[in-house]
Amino acid sequence: MIEYSKVEVQVDLGAVRHNYREMTKAGTRLIAVVKSDAYGHGAREVAEALEEEGADSFAVGYVHEGHMLRESGCRGRIISLLGPADNDDVSCLSQGNIIPFVGHFDTLHMLAGQSTRPLDIALKFDTGMSRLGFKRADLGNLLDFLHAHPQLRPVMVSSHLASSDEPDQDSLTHSQLAVFNEVVDTVRQAGFSVEANLSNSAAILGHQHCRCDSQRVGITLYGGNPFAGTSRAELGANIRPTMAVTAPVLHVHTLEKGQGISYGHTYVADHPITVAVVGAGYADCYSRGLSNAGFMNAAGVRVPIVGRICMQMACVDVSALAGQGVDLHVGDCVHLLGGEGPGRVDIHELASWWGTITYEVLCLLGMNRRVFAQ
Ligand SMILES: *Cc1c(COP(=O)(O)O)cnc(C)c1O
Repeated sequence: MIEYSKVEVQVDLGAVRHNYREMTKAGTRLIAVVKSDAYGHGAREVAEALEEEGADSFAVGYVHEGHMLRESGCRGRIISLLGPADNDDVSCLSQGNIIPFVGHFDTLHMLAGQSTRPLDIALKFDTGMSRLGFKRADLGNLLDFLHAHPQLRPVMVSSHLASSDEPDQDSLTHSQLAVFNEVVDTVRQAGFSVEANLSNSAAILGHQHCRCDSQRVGITLYGGNPFAGTSRAELGANIRPTMAVTAPVLHVHTLEKGQGISYGHTYVADHPITVAVVGAGYADCYSRGLSNAGFMNAAGVRVPIVGRICMQMACVDVSALAGQGVDLHVGDCVHLLGGEGPGRVDIHELASWWGTITYEVLCLLGMNRRVFAQ
């Protein structure tokens, strides 16, 4: 969490709840992914709100995130998607009653060596992402190992889709599903009763055939439409924005014709403009890549960033406000994300100016001080 900034993140928990309810329409049990502090929205607050909506399962990244979530009072099932990375993580598992993803034999050995008490685990398979997980070819050895170590109890089989949000890569999703189904069948035939899950948000919306027993929902809870800008964009039409971000105006002045602004004078005014200096910069996780490329929302009007974004400041051309009869004053807040009016900054637009995806924008801006609305 950034302590020094004046940037404020407004999290709309009501919208998170709405998005959760939208995703329950898929009809399966949902695992709410609250890793990385709920994509910058605050894991504790989001989990609390979703528990009230009936959510009973949460997924975090590392085990210690799960431990913090448990300590904060979360009563639901907690799954650590990155499993135990070291011995500290292993000891946290049973303390926090956390179910780890396990995808490698060395992790299995570590768990078997440390725990004599029964431990629920989720078996993670690599069906095409080529990152983490057992391979289909590991199944024989894996099942032998599990039979020999009954204290490790596989309760879940999972895999992760690489391209479920890319309509032109459906064949990869289909092939991952085929491998996954085979793996799940084999594990069940070996006598283990497991809950299977494969889908992320995009698959929940666009690949009903991947439904299985439960589904892991992340970005759509946080206002991201995984299909934005694609032929399937309509599938995410009911998802509401959950985060708005503001920063204060520090100074307003005129930039005369021919005057350059900020480091390197990468913007030179070709006519006189009014500039507002805003208290948000790259140290507040407002990317320098937005220099001369992004926009803010000042009093409902879209205003372009002029010149380079600095460590704790950015400049915008607010000349358009005069035409709307709006006066911008020092201390007024402008929106880096969200806000009202035609200037509203949509998360997908901001991500595209930024040259990245909604996930990264939410995680980064979400590092600033948060306030919550129910
Ligand atoms: C982050 C994550 C998800 C959630 O994905 P979204 O695209 O945000 O819905 C699901 N499963 C795993 C394993 C993840 O790491």
